[in-house]
Amino acid sequence: MNVKNNKAGKKQVAISACLLGEAVRYDGRNKQHSLISNIFMRQLKKQLEVIPFCPEMAIGLGVPRDKIELVRQKDESIRVLGVENHTWDVTEALQSYAGTFLKQYPNLQYFIVKSRSPSCGYNSTPVFVNGLEVAMDSGMFVQSLLHIKPDIKIINESDLLTEQDCLEFLGNIDFEC
Ligand code: SF4
Repeated sequence: MNVKNNKAGKKQVAISACLLGEAVRYDGRNKQHSLISNIFMRQLKKQLEVIPFCPEMAIGLGVPRDKIELVRQKDESIRVLGVENHTWDVTEALQSYAGTFLKQYPNLQYFIVKSRSPSCGYNSTPVFVNGLEVAMDSGMFVQSLLHIKPDIKIINESDLLTEQDCLEFLGNIDFEC
């Protein structure tokens, strides 16, 4: 893969903001991941530009907010609906934001995402029918990213267990600390 860097020569890595300690989850909490914060925000900060993102905040859902989930429809399509209110549908908003985000960062190739999220999860998010989990898919923002740009590299935080995992994900970038 031919990975382009930003103007300062740094690789760009987008990371779900809740993993970096930002209190953007539906319940006002974060999901800070100490390994990811340490490696990507501190140890590799000279080589990387980290781009935190939260699709649900970006489309205007505040904190706290009602929970959303992936729901399979009768025609087999998947929508993102309110858990308590299935008439609340944020599917198009998340799809549209994926396009906006990629236009903003045209050279971006790497995404580290929060697993199981209806927006950010990568092949790890439950899909429901009548309240029952029937399958796994990606969150709607990630589905849309992959639809627009199939060659981007995405990993769930749950697959980054060691420093080596983080370096391998980036193609074995060298430390300069
Ligand atoms: S939308 Fe993504 S970044 Fe925002 S809180 Fe949910 S998992 Fe984290």
